[in-house]
Order: sequence, then structure tokens, then C-alpha cells
Amino acid sequence: MIIIMEERASQEAISLVLEAIEAEGLKPFVNPGVERKVIAVLGVVDVEKVSVADKFAALTGVERVALVSEPYKLASRAHHPAGTIVNVRGVPLGGPELCVIAGPCSVESREQTLEIAHAVKAAGAHMFRGGAFKPRTSPYSFQGLGRKGLEILAEAREVTGLPIVTEVMDADDCDQANEFADVLQIGARNMQNFRLLKKVGGMKLPVLLKRGFGCKVEDLLMATEYIMAEGNMQVILCERGIITFEDSTRYTTDINAIPVIKHHSHLPIVLDPSHAAGDWRYVADIALAGIAAGADGLEIEVHNQPSKAKSDGAQALTPDKFVDFMTRARRVAAAVERSIRVPVVTG
Ligand code: PEP
Ligand code: MN
Repeated sequence: MIIIMEERASQEAISLVLEAIEAEGLKPFVNPGVERKVIAVLGVVDVEKVSVADKFAALTGVERVALVSEPYKLASRAHHPAGTIVNVRGVPLGGPELCVIAGPCSVESREQTLEIAHAVKAAGAHMFRGGAFKPRTSPYSFQGLGRKGLEILAEAREVTGLPIVTEVMDADDCDQANEFADVLQIGARNMQNFRLLKKVGGMKLPVLLKRGFGCKVEDLLMATEYIMAEGNMQVILCERGIITFEDSTRYTTDINAIPVIKHHSHLPIVLDPSHAAGDWRYVADIALAGIAAGADGLEIEVHNQPSKAKSDGAQALTPDKFVDFMTRARRVAAAVERSIRVPVVTG
């Protein structure tokens, strides 16, 4: 349930509405930073609540009460009809301009990371990605450089100016990444790690939440709700492929998810074609399809020496291929009335 207050509703009227919500055993949530006060009523909505809605509608200063049928409230477009733009150090994610996040799967060394960071920056990427804490299927595979990796990422930001996106897997990773990163990524395997979701929900940094490969769109939006209910509204959603019977690619890109998420949620949606394909040959074409389908951004793995990569080398674009891709991406973006900002190259 959403309560929309009259534009000139007094603070006293708002307080009375908040009290009335609590008196019904429900939890009010005032969207911060929204000019017109919109109060989300969190709790289980059942048919009985319709009479409660009438009660709220009768209160002073209330313009109208809207019943939101979806189980997720804060992530729902009903709660926030305009699309949300997440601003990461001046880089917008969610507006008319597309945002391209690029970089290696893992931070392997200072040299490797800085070389790739310079290359993706020169090609026009807007943010830099790299994993310092890696969720690997095998405990014997490279697990990431940890804190050292975060320090390298911070240096990459310093020399390129690109904001840093990096994955966190537990509360300790979050505290460490908070010192160095600009966006906390929650990987597909942790999409329903509810303690982790609550932890990042209580933090200030934007969160990039990847869809679990066995999870429905609704599960993704419910997971988002865990973050937002803790107060962090800066959530970027990410489609990265799901498991189907098709095995010609690592996962199957659920291209449908992009317009579906845009319809149901106000949050920006990014496509990761790299993990979806698992093979660099398909990455560019799938990414272009994502732009055409309305994605607000892309997350793409790029490596200077894919054959030597410590993780996901098979799906990494080389810097040259990434440059070619960006040229094609600009054309497709223009065809669907979006654009990809060409960064001002300094120094
Ligand atoms: C990654 O981005 O490197 C990653 C592990 O992705 P996912 O969680 O989508 O598998
Ligand atoms: Mn990867």
C-alpha cells in the first residue's frame, strides 16, 4: 500500500499518518529525497487491509491511497513511477545515457588491473569492475587477492577516474570494500543471502544486485526489497543469465527480464552478457540485444591476456574487441534513442 500525501501536507499531517500506520501494526516507510511525500506501508497486505486503506484515505493531508498488488513495495514502480537514476561519483545509471561497466573478472595483479583499467577508460567505459573476493565453484580455484585487490582497484580509480564496482560475499568483505569501492556487487550465488542483503541495505554505497541463475524476476525484486527496507535506495539490478536446458552457452540470457523489470520496477537494470554467454564470441551481440531491449547499462568482462586469466578468461573481450564493441554499441543505443557518453579524456 502506498499513501500519497497532498503537495502542501503539513509535517503534522504526515506525522499523524505515520502514527496511524503504526497503530495498525504496519511499518511506514518515507521515501527519502522525494519532494512529494509518498509513504509506503510495509507489511502483509490482505483483503482486510482494503478497509484500512479507506481509513488512511480519510486522514488530513492524504491525497490518495494506492494498493500495490506486488509483494515487493519499495522496488515497485507503483511506489516510484519515475525511473530511478543511481548516481555513482557523478556517473548516472538509469537515465537516458547508458552506463558501461568493464574490467576483468578478478584483480590478479597491479599491472594487469591498471593496464585493463586504462584500456577500458580509453575505449569509453564509465565504471571499472574487478573482483577482489571471488565466489568460485571450486575451493581450489583462485579466490581473489582480498584487501590487496581492493587497494589495487582504488589505485585504478585514482589513475583513471573510473568509479569501482566490486563483489562482496560477507559482512567483513563489505566493511573492507566500503573503504575502497563505489558500488558493492552482490553476485548471483548470493542473491538470496538475506543477511548480506540486510548488511548492504544498511550501508551508504550503491548496490549492484545480480539475479541468481535459478531465480525468477520476482525473487530478484523481493531480494531487492531486503536492501531497500533497510534504507538503501541505491540499487542497480543485473540480469546475468539463467539456467535452462540449452547448453550451447554457459547460461541463457533472459532478454525478456529487461522490459519486464522496467515495467515492474523503477530501478535501473544492467545486462551482463559475459557470464550469460561464457564465451567471448557471443558477448558483443548479446550486449547489443540488451541495449535494444532497454537495458540502462552493461557489465562486460575485459582482459588483456584472456588465455592467462585466473578466472573467466574464455568470456573476456580483449581491449581491441572492446573498442570495436563500443563503436557498435553507440550505434544501437542511438537507434533506440539512448546514448553512450564519450568521456572527456584528460592527461
Ligand atoms: C562476476 O561478476 O565475476 C561474477 C562472479 O558474476 P555472477 O555472480 O553473475 O556469476
Ligand atoms: Mn567473472
